[in-house]
Formats: sequence, structure tokens, C-alpha cells
Amino acid sequence: MTGEIKYLLGEEDMPKQWYNIMADFKNPPSPVIHPGTMQPVGPADLAPLFPQEIILQEVSQERYIDIPKPVRNIYRQWRPSPLYRARRLEEALDTPAKIYYKYEGVSPAGSHKPNTAIAQAFYNKVEGVKRLTTETGAGQWGSSLSLAGAFFGLEVEVFMVKVSYQQKPYRRAFMETFGATVHASPSEITNAGRAVLAQNPNSTGSLGIAISEAVERAVQRDDTKYSLGSVLNHVLMHQTIIGLEAIKQLEMAGDYPDIVVGCTGGGSNFGGIAFPFIGEMLRGGKKVDVIAVEPAACPSITRGKYAYDFGDTGKMTPLVKMHTLGSAFVPPGFHAGGLRYHGMAPLVSQLVEEGYIKGVAYHQTQCFAAGVQFGRAEGILPAPEANHAVKGAIDAALQCKREGKKKTILFNLCGHGNFDMQAYADYAAGKLKDEDYNQQELAMALAGLPKMPVSA
Ligand SMILES: *Cc1c(COP(=O)(O)O)cnc(C)c1O
Repeated sequence: MTGEIKYLLGEEDMPKQWYNIMADFKNPPSPVIHPGTMQPVGPADLAPLFPQEIILQEVSQERYIDIPKPVRNIYRQWRPSPLYRARRLEEALDTPAKIYYKYEGVSPAGSHKPNTAIAQAFYNKVEGVKRLTTETGAGQWGSSLSLAGAFFGLEVEVFMVKVSYQQKPYRRAFMETFGATVHASPSEITNAGRAVLAQNPNSTGSLGIAISEAVERAVQRDDTKYSLGSVLNHVLMHQTIIGLEAIKQLEMAGDYPDIVVGCTGGGSNFGGIAFPFIGEMLRGGKKVDVIAVEPAACPSITRGKYAYDFGDTGKMTPLVKMHTLGSAFVPPGFHAGGLRYHGMAPLVSQLVEEGYIKGVAYHQTQCFAAGVQFGRAEGILPAPEANHAVKGAIDAALQCKREGKKKTILFNLCGHGNFDMQAYADYAAGKLKDEDYNQQELAMALAGLPKMPVSA
């Protein structure tokens, strides 16, 4: 084995702008709809939830948006993140393909999520907000917003999906150490939580339920706003720094990917790595196969409907057009908690419909097997979510082997799994089951999609 394994950029090479893929869309994005009036929402409708700058970014048509200096100054602690060539994994797979991975586990929270948490906390702070509410699945987002809140002096209240609250006590301790308040969701402190518990006292929760609780708390107080860690346009835009850096780093390596792979929960780390490459395609650049890997137990892209739906279970959010399993859908309690969301980012969904992104779904034990193989070769244990991307990249590399093709594969290693050792222990003990989603429940959740006017 010879050659470079690590591509590092200097601080001065860190991108100074995020990339907004909406500027390059061939078809305009579908409007966000107010469920009461069935009209497109305006800035005034969103003002109770988000600061003005975030609302503007959500609908911006500017191709590049400046990263504020205070945000860049925090990013610099771990950015630019490294790009690695997975030479030992390539050898283990005996593939002619080249495999690169962008490693976001170097952030203080251990994932890509601080890329947007820092930005969101900053914009809230400058607009005088005192408290942020949010939901978290596996705890990665709650951790990221908690540390961003600590940096900017904002109180953070987190509704953590109950199954993760029980499975991941260290994540909760992490958030609380940064000063956040953490509730198991569904909780007794909101109408949305109480309604779910009345129907099902044993509910293990879902991101959709936790979002309802966090939104409810935010709209009750003037000094409080809500922060979402995925799905929305501005969140995906903040994550594009991943792909923008990767383009520069691959240039250093004299390479460009044929295949880009990411895992998808709500679509933010995937959009982060993939959008800068899809943008090049939209502007007439090189064709790249872009693969979104999702869990077979919560397969919004491959099994969901492309339709208007609520972002939450309590039907409090505006309606967005996306691939959805229905806002009432509750996936089985598998270990990649960050991938247990019923919907998919509207921007990712539209690009799937337009043929720029292909979705694939895998079961969790296949993904853990891939994660263990990757870990033994590269020395980093991926987060259970990231194992989906690893599995997608390994399968692509094995296909190159069968076809004798020397392709270049890039994937996003969106987080490390150092807080997820219980999942690895369960996997090693043969305790992980590949649960399918409940077909009947999916059919019911899809039947309950909101009825839209014909024009939508
Ligand atoms: C939250 C999270 C995800 C899922 O969210 P996306 O918005 O789809 O990126 C995936 N991986 C990790 C490590 C996460 O923390």
C-alpha cells in the first residue's frame, strides 16, 4: 500500500459561504403550505418558530450565502474536517475502486450536526432569542444544540425520543452537562405528549412526536424559538460545507467521484455531502451516481409517497411536499435512532423525483456488519446511522469489483459511534433483530395524509 491517506485543508481554505442548491433547481421547489388556509406560508407564519435570517435562508434563491464570522470562528475548531482515502478497506475488499470518506466525527459532538447547530444558535442570539426548544432522536442533535447553546448563552430544552432516552443515558448526560434540560418524549408537560400517552401509555416515542412537543413549547413564549436539526432547506444548506470541502480535498488528490453515498434520516448530512456535486451536475458538470441509504425499517424514499404531509405527529407544523411514510407512522425501535423519521427533506425528495438521487434501503444487521468491517480496517467505529453509508459504499465497491471497474467512491462518515457501544455490544451478542415496519400501520399512516387541493 502506497500513497496519501489523508487530505487536510488549512483553516484559510475553509469555505466562507454555504451552497444553496435551490439557485440551480430546474423546477421551483413546492411551496410550504399553511394547513389552515391551504395557502403558501409567509414569513409572518414562521416568525413564532424561527429568527428572520433563517426564514430568509429557507426561501433564498442566492447560490452562495456568507457564513457569518462568529460561526466560522467556531467551525475552525474542527473544520475543515479531514478527507481520508480508505486504503486498508479497499485492500480488505480487494476492490479496484478508490474509496474516500469525509469524516464529520471530529466535531465536539461527534457528528455533522454542529455545522447547523452553531449557525442556528448564532442567528437566534443576534435576534435576541433567549431559549431554544428542539427534539432529538439518538441524542446527536440535542448534544449539538446543547453545546451551541452553551457557546452563545442560550437555554436549550430538548425532547428526546423515549426509546433513545432509555438506550443512551450518556447522550442525556452530555446534553445536561452543557446546561440543557432533557425530557423523555412523549412527556406529560405538553398537550401533544399527553395526547399520545392517553392513546398509548407505552409509546416509545418518535421524532414526529418529539417535534410536536418542542414546537408547542416554542410558540407558547415570546423569548423562545424552535430549532430543527434536519429536513429544512436552511439546515441542508448549512451542511453543504461538507461537500464544498470535499471537492477541494479531492482536487488535492487529483480525483472526482463517480459515486457519492450518504445515509438519510431527514437528509441533512446527505444533502451536505451530495448537493455541491449535484449542483455541478445541474450546471452541466460531470454526471455522478448519488446514493441515499436509508433503514429498511423506516424507508421514506424507497417506500414512502411523494406528497404533502405534516412534519410532526401532532399536525402542528406547516405542510411540506416530501417522501413520507405518513406523520402517524412510528417505526420499530432500531438502533440508528437518527434515521427514525417519517419524512425526507423536500429538497432531497424533489431531486429523487427528478432522477438525480437513487434511494436504497438496508436492514440494521447488514449495516452493523459493514460498520465492523470498516472499523477493523480504518480504526474508526461509525455511528449506527453512518453504518448505512458505509454499507452503501462497500456495496458500490464490491459492484466495481464484480464489473472490474476502477470507480471513485466518496461517502460521508457523518459521525463516530463512541456513544453507541451498547448497540455494538448488542450486535456482537446477536441481539439485534431486523424488524420490518408494520405494513398495516404504514397503510393507515399513508391513508391519513392530509387532503390537498387538486392544484398541489
Ligand atoms: C442525526 C444524524 C443522522 C440523520 O440525520 P440526517 O439529517 O439525515 O443527516 C445521521 N447520522 C448521524 C451521525 C446523525 O447524528
